[in-house]
Amino acid sequence: MPDRVLRAMHRPSPNIYAGELVEMAFGLIPDLKAVAQTRGHVAMYIGNGHAAWEAALFNVISKGDKVLVLMTGHFGWGWSNMAGTMGADVELMDFGRRSANDLDAVEARLRADADHQIKAVLSVHVDTSTGVKNDIAGLRRAMDASKHPALLMADCIASLVCDDFQTDAWGVDVMVAGCQKGLMVPAGMSFVFFNDKADAVREANGCASHYWDWRPRMQAEALWQLFDGTAPTHHLYGLRAALDMIAEESLPQIFVRHRVLAEAIWAAVEVWSAGGPIELNIQDAAYRSHAITSLRIGAPYGTALRTWCEQEAGLTLGIGLGMATAADPKADGFFRLGHMGYVNAQMILGMLATVQAGMLACKIPYGAGAIEAASAVIIGAQPQVPLAVLPQSA
Ligand SMILES: *Cc1c(COP(=O)(O)O)cnc(C)c1O
Repeated sequence: MPDRVLRAMHRPSPNIYAGELVEMAFGLIPDLKAVAQTRGHVAMYIGNGHAAWEAALFNVISKGDKVLVLMTGHFGWGWSNMAGTMGADVELMDFGRRSANDLDAVEARLRADADHQIKAVLSVHVDTSTGVKNDIAGLRRAMDASKHPALLMADCIASLVCDDFQTDAWGVDVMVAGCQKGLMVPAGMSFVFFNDKADAVREANGCASHYWDWRPRMQAEALWQLFDGTAPTHHLYGLRAALDMIAEESLPQIFVRHRVLAEAIWAAVEVWSAGGPIELNIQDAAYRSHAITSLRIGAPYGTALRTWCEQEAGLTLGIGLGMATAADPKADGFFRLGHMGYVNAQMILGMLATVQAGMLACKIPYGAGAIEAASAVIIGAQPQVPLAVLPQSA
């Protein structure tokens, strides 16, 4: 989280009925749509990503509706669970932990659904557990090829403002995002973007929840209507600052920064891999997230390494989420590197050097020259890609 965001939040409680905050809150809407690359609608919620999952489902899915959930890791499974709890008839297509959605299989499944029982296809864009990035434009093409009318719903909680995501151009009907990842704001707000097609489904079916209903939020005229009660006042100031920073750097530049830093990480890991057990979880670079990298290193190395990095060097690495197996019930053989949002070259090089120090300390073998390989990627991208300084001022 940038200091600028935190500073924007550090202030007394504002008037929630009139004045500056009201204007500012409504001004967030066009800027949120700009980062989502949509001319559609957005509803804002007080809540985390799980809240946005549920909000999205309540508006377009009724009890008994069939939904097809594509699973490429922990988060596809999580969203499907939520749909099941709400009474949807959930069909899960599990593509494992190391690969993206198999779009031919999805197309075949949709063609087989001749009487169009499936009301929505749910897919995570970037699954934060496995580090896979699914091809959502390709998913739309597969749905169109099968002439299936289901809604396309995507989870961009980990990818928005990190990996390019073109809500309208890719034909996404409903998209969910949170504020605490690429949007660089403390956790607590989330967003559901939707188009007229999805809103027509909401109109036809009604919404079984008063709180999650996106219609009053979409038509809000007063601040309390935007959030169905008190607005998350300080989060709004933080989000305003974050959106200003994003506009100053520009979305294309942000995407390039994330790509180059991710490529630096992959280059380092490939060198380490040549001389030890560490391995990128997603082998095909075209399907790797630019915001999160999931690594396999073998039990108990993952946990040992995370513990050393946290306790001895102050670097927190991600746990091996959703990777547990009978042979490795606590996923001790996995860890994840987060590189989303407010990150620059020195942070990534520092992280890589710290991980390498951790492998040395834990006596985990690794190939030599990883920091040089990462450095070469960063040097090769400059000066076209400024990776040194992030916008800080104001
Ligand atoms: C973080 C995340 C979620 C869950 O968000 P919470 O804010 O933790 O509820 C869902 N999906 C993806 C892809 C995520 O990265």
